[in-house]
Amino acid sequence: MTVLKLEIATAERLVYAEDVSIVVAPGADGELAILPEHTSLLTTLKPGELRVVKDGKESLIAVSGGFMEVLSNRVTILADTAERSEEIDEERASIALKRAQEQMTQASSQMELEKAMAAMRRSQARVAVARRKRRTNSAAN
Ligand code: ATP
Repeated sequence: MTVLKLEIATAERLVYAEDVSIVVAPGADGELAILPEHTSLLTTLKPGELRVVKDGKESLIAVSGGFMEVLSNRVTILADTAERSEEIDEERASIALKRAQEQMTQASSQMELEKAMAAMRRSQARVAVARRKRRTNSAAN
């Protein structure tokens, strides 16, 4: 069976490298589902949940934006930050989310507002991935 060779990296580390059957990514213009034999593609990603299916099992990764290239059954993602669901500290993400929301209300310039909004989107993606992982785990038990 044809697979997708998926690599997710940040400037600091290789986050995920596996042969998978589906990648669903938060494209700048909406969710993108990539299956084997997908046409070549280069796109930006927005902060959100990345879902991959390997051997019928779904894994979740939080990304905070970046680029995705699809070429000859290879999917390469270079993300600003990325964490696998099991790496996410949900409490830290919730605290960061509250802090970002406060900073948004107190922003005194467009730059401060944009910085706070970016922090809010990063932490929202982490909270969403951690929650979904928790729900999946409790449903399996
Ligand atoms: P915080 O204020 O909690 O540091 P942040 O959004 O400012 O959040 P980033 O600058 O996006 O954090 O990330 C810094 C590093 O910490 C990155 O390597 C990122 O992968 C990691 N990281 C950030 N938040 C979490 C989290 N909740 N759980 C695990 N790793 C995280």
